[in-house]
Amino acid sequence: MTYDLIIIGSGPAGLTAGLYAARGSLKVLIIEKAGIGGQIATAREIENYPGAPANSTGPDLAERMRQQCVEFGVEFSTRTYLSNQETPGGFLVQTDAETLETKTIIIATGKASKSVGYKGEQELRGMGVSYCAVCDANFFKGLRVAVIGGDDAALEDSLYLTKFAKEVVIIHQQDTFKGDEVLQKKVMDCKQIEILDNTQLEEIKGSGMVASICVKDLKTGKICEIPMDGVFIFAGLNPNTEMFVGSLQRNAKGYLVTDAEMRTSIPGLFAAGDVREKSLRQVVTATADGAIAAFNAIKFIDELV
Ligand SMILES: Cc1cc2nc3c(=O)[nH]c(=O)nc-3n(C[C@H](O)[C@H](O)[C@H](O)COP(=O)(O)OP(=O)(O)OC[C@H]3O[C@@H](n4cnc5c(N)ncnc54)[C@H](O)[C@@H]3O)c2cc1C
Repeated sequence: MTYDLIIIGSGPAGLTAGLYAARGSLKVLIIEKAGIGGQIATAREIENYPGAPANSTGPDLAERMRQQCVEFGVEFSTRTYLSNQETPGGFLVQTDAETLETKTIIIATGKASKSVGYKGEQELRGMGVSYCAVCDANFFKGLRVAVIGGDDAALEDSLYLTKFAKEVVIIHQQDTFKGDEVLQKKVMDCKQIEILDNTQLEEIKGSGMVASICVKDLKTGKICEIPMDGVFIFAGLNPNTEMFVGSLQRNAKGYLVTDAEMRTSIPGLFAAGDVREKSLRQVVTATADGAIAAFNAIKFIDELV
């Protein structure tokens, strides 16, 4: 058997699971299809993770977590997990490059930005259509961008975009915002931000690059076209669980169902972090899940002997 534990995903849940399992003497591999750190790799400030220094950025925190894993011997591999198959001694894990053997698996694949399916969205994705202000704001220096959405994440990112863009237009379907009132006041006081409420995005237009958007006034039904250089869509996130359809229990929103010990319905296969059904998806809950999953993976292997 090559590994005791293969962890899929290197966000806070996967990195914590790696640390706990490797400290518990397991031979651990973390498979990550993108960059280390998961969602926190795009978080510019983490203020609510206990003990994180003031002004701690997501990438800093991710790097410290990665370092701790490396110190305890966790291996990393840049691969995309595709599927797994149960064997008498554990699992065969299929990635885009190879088949690996392991006694246990922890799924820590988290969530990803949701695309909405606006007309023109798919065609102009990466060509002015973005889902991450921290990642792409720099491309819109001195330009005019639209933000689609009105939750706290959308408002926070609108403020962030004003550091780069000349003008930010928030397209919001309701006439009031819900959520953090301090944040709302900051947005409303910001001269670079224009709010179009009771308004819905109908189409993103452009040939090769975003050039304009068509929006509908939900009170009058009137549609107008506004010149625009970029569109940031904040429509929430989807759990990365499509590869487990039919093999593991998912709830109506697609999150994996586990018990409090992070066990799925398959013995030896655990899930941790934002990918699983729970009420609060944050770094602190992801790391806690990762620790519990690793603890139970160790216990599972001990009981095999
Ligand atoms: C912009 C932003 C700001 C945030 N700010 C805060 C904050 O201030 N405080 C806070 O507590 N929380 C914050 N969060 C939420 C927090 O980042 C998440 O709750 C946390 O990252 C969840 O960790 P996770 O390990 O479960 O999943 P994720 O961080 O989503 O990591 C999952 C990893 O799995 C990988 N993966 C997925 N599918 C595969 C596959 N098939 N093969 C291989 N790898 C795969 C992904 O590439 C990703 O790296 C923020 C999130 C965002 C997006």
